[in-house]
Amino acid sequence: MTKTCANSTVAFLLVLAAATGVRAQDYPAKPIALIMPFAAGGPGDTMARHLGTAMSAALKQQIVVENPSGAGGTIGINKVAKSRPDGYTLLIMNIGMSTAPTLYRNLPYNVIDDFDHIGRVADVPMVIVGKKGLAPNNFKELLAHMRAGKQSVTLGHAGPGSASHLCALLFTNAIQEEPTMVAYKGTAPALKDVVGGHIDLLCDQTTVTTPQIKAGTIKVYGVTSKERVSLLPDVPTFDEQGLTNFEILVWFALWAPKGLPKPVFDKLVGALQSAVVDPAFKARVNDFGGEPVTAAKANPEALRTFFKAEIDKWGPIIRKAGVYAD
Ligand code: ASP
Repeated sequence: MTKTCANSTVAFLLVLAAATGVRAQDYPAKPIALIMPFAAGGPGDTMARHLGTAMSAALKQQIVVENPSGAGGTIGINKVAKSRPDGYTLLIMNIGMSTAPTLYRNLPYNVIDDFDHIGRVADVPMVIVGKKGLAPNNFKELLAHMRAGKQSVTLGHAGPGSASHLCALLFTNAIQEEPTMVAYKGTAPALKDVVGGHIDLLCDQTTVTTPQIKAGTIKVYGVTSKERVSLLPDVPTFDEQGLTNFEILVWFALWAPKGLPKPVFDKLVGALQSAVVDPAFKARVNDFGGEPVTAAKANPEALRTFFKAEIDKWGPIIRKAGVYAD
C-alpha cells in the first residue's frame, strides 16, 4: 500500500468511526438501549431488567430497557433490525423470535440474516391461569367447561409471535377447542384483565403469574413444561393430567442489528457470559421460576444452532395449525 493510499484508508476509517459515533475500542461510551418488545411489567420486561443490571455491571455502563410493544413483538424487533449496528441498541426476545417467520408471511426483517446472534440468556416455565370467577377448578373441569360451550371462553395472549400466543395455539390445538383469542401488547395487560375478571384464560410465564397464584387472585390449571415448577410444587403439569401432546418452555436470547464491529460483538458476548453466571442474576431469575443458561449456551454459535432448530421445529406445527398473523 502506498503512503497516500494508507493515509486515505486511515482517513476513511476515522470518518466511518465518526459517522457511527463510536470507536469500537472505547465501547461502551454511553448508555445502551435494550429493546424488549412487550409491555412494561410483563415477564419479558422483568427478564430484560435483570439482564440489563447484570450486563451493565460487566460493561460498566448503564443499560436502559425500552418497550416498543405491539404486533406480537414484531414492531420492536423491526426497530432493532433497522438500527445502527454500533452496540448501543440490543434486543432481548423470547421463543417467539423463532415462530414469527412462519406466523407472518410478510415480516419486515429476516430473523437470521438481519441480526448478530449474541447468545441465549435463560429459560422460564409457563402456566395456564384463569380468572378467579371461572367455574372449573382443574384442567379436567376446564376441558368439560370448554366442550360444553355454554359460553365462549376468552383466552388472552401478547400477539402473534409471542410466547403466550404460541402456547395458546399449541394448547387449543391439543384440546381441539377454539376459544375467543384476545390480543394484547404484552402479557402484563392481559394478566391484569384476568385478575380483573375481564378475560377467562391466559398462558403466561411463572415470572408474573406465581405471585397472583399464591395470593389466590387467579386460578391455575397446569404447568406447560414436562417438569413441575419448584415454586409451585402443588400445580400438576398438563402431561400429568393426560394432555401429553402439549409442551412449551420459554427461552430468551440476546441479539443486535447485523454488523457489529468485532470488538463490540466480543465485549457483548463476554458481558452476557458474565451475566449468566452472576449469582445475583441467577438468584433473581430463580426467584421467578426461571433458570439462566450455562455459559456454554450463552454464546453466538450455540444460539445460532439452537435458533435454527427452533425455527425448523415450530414451522411445521404452526403451518399444520394453519394460523397466520397477516
Ligand atoms: N412474555 C411476553 C411479555 O412480556 C409476551 C409473550 O411472549 O408472551 O409480555
